[in-house]
Amino acid sequence: MKSFCVHGHFYQPPREDPFTGVISPEKGANPFANFNEKVNAECYRPNAELGNFEALSFNLGPTLAAWLEGHDPSTYQRIVEADRRNQAAHGAGNTLAQAYNHTILPLATRRDKETQVAWGAADFRHRFGRDPLGMWLPEMAVDQETLEILASQGIAFTILSPHQARGQPNGAGPYRVRLPRGREIAVFFRDEALSNRLAFDSELTNSAEDFVENCLSGGHGPGGEGLYPEPVEGLCLIATDGETFGHHHRGGERFLHDLLYETAPRAGYEVTFLARYLQEHPPTTEVEIVDGTSWSCGHGVARWGEGCTCTQGDSEWKRYLRGALDRLAQEMDALYQDEVERWVADPWQLRNGYIQVVLGEMEGKAFLAQQVARKLSEEGEKRILTLLEAQYYRQAMYTSCGFFFEDLSRLEPRYIIAYAAKAIHLVKEVTGISLEEGFKRDLRLAVSWITEQTGEDVYEEVVSQRVDE
Ligand SMILES: [Zn+2]
Repeated sequence: MKSFCVHGHFYQPPREDPFTGVISPEKGANPFANFNEKVNAECYRPNAELGNFEALSFNLGPTLAAWLEGHDPSTYQRIVEADRRNQAAHGAGNTLAQAYNHTILPLATRRDKETQVAWGAADFRHRFGRDPLGMWLPEMAVDQETLEILASQGIAFTILSPHQARGQPNGAGPYRVRLPRGREIAVFFRDEALSNRLAFDSELTNSAEDFVENCLSGGHGPGGEGLYPEPVEGLCLIATDGETFGHHHRGGERFLHDLLYETAPRAGYEVTFLARYLQEHPPTTEVEIVDGTSWSCGHGVARWGEGCTCTQGDSEWKRYLRGALDRLAQEMDALYQDEVERWVADPWQLRNGYIQVVLGEMEGKAFLAQQVARKLSEEGEKRILTLLEAQYYRQAMYTSCGFFFEDLSRLEPRYIIAYAAKAIHLVKEVTGISLEEGFKRDLRLAVSWITEQTGEDVYEEVVSQRVDE
């Protein structure tokens, strides 16, 4: 039996100003106020209305999920329902969780990896009412430690690209990856050529019928490359950004609907999703993963680290911006630990649990009463909760889109500098210690190759606009 699965990674970064909670107007999104509105109108809503989420495998990033829940509840409900229906019909849901802040996990510390995975899983449980079985790794960035943490938190599988394995995996799998401490995890490999073609060639989404004939059924693609010279056996897995369908490619939602409900089944494919396929086909073969690789940087994870030629111009600013964030994070963590370990045995366990407060499942006071054995004064409660809030923004400042694009003067790096500024502000409120000067000094080294603005200039602009002081 030939099986077919399309996985959509649906995601938007946080766009809210951390000081006001409001999204500033975004010029490029015209006639919409911002990109969330625009992409929702072009992609999330029409795909939900067509029932596409039920036939896809997908993940919905926590920042996008929260926005949809507030701004388009009926679309949000349709998406959540899609997972419930599959769960009821197949004993497995089709939604994957996602590491919470879209952090490039191989570049994060072990402690941050653990928090990202714990928060992502908690956000998933909050929305979908069940434990996640699969987890999407932001940019498919992977290393052994990340996979081991996934497995230790009950995650059974993830999706990667074939070039992230040693040797060329023969097909989508699933494969077993053996991990430190006796753990293991299943990995699916997407068809990289076909996924990329679909993402970058808008001609391909004109007709689902042509797509199946030319690309799936042993035909030769429109470019003549012959992606699948032989008919596929086992699972054919496409994985790409969900926004491909309707936002990047106009009318892509209709293409997707035709593909999943009509043309692929007619060509003899069983349209499935990953948790269900894994249930029916447990891995029998092992594979090894190459640490520090991703799906959208040919230089490993340099695109979000020291910079590389994946982006235009001088990308040195990335190295310095990350260095500034890493130093700030270390200083914040020391202050947090000093304060909090007087009250709890494991401050990092407390941080992992704090997501319940963020999600509104629990009041801060009730959370502390549950976590801290001794009675806290009102002042003590406020200190710990404020430091936890600072840790929340400290996680948000690693959102990968801040590093993804070519220049420091763009909106995305500005957002992450704004999250850092918010974290600095909260730490000072509690401890009286300002981490601002050191951060600014480090940011001075990051320079835009387009405007010659430094990270410090961006920081000054961000804090001059804030309204909460
Ligand atoms: Zn690169």
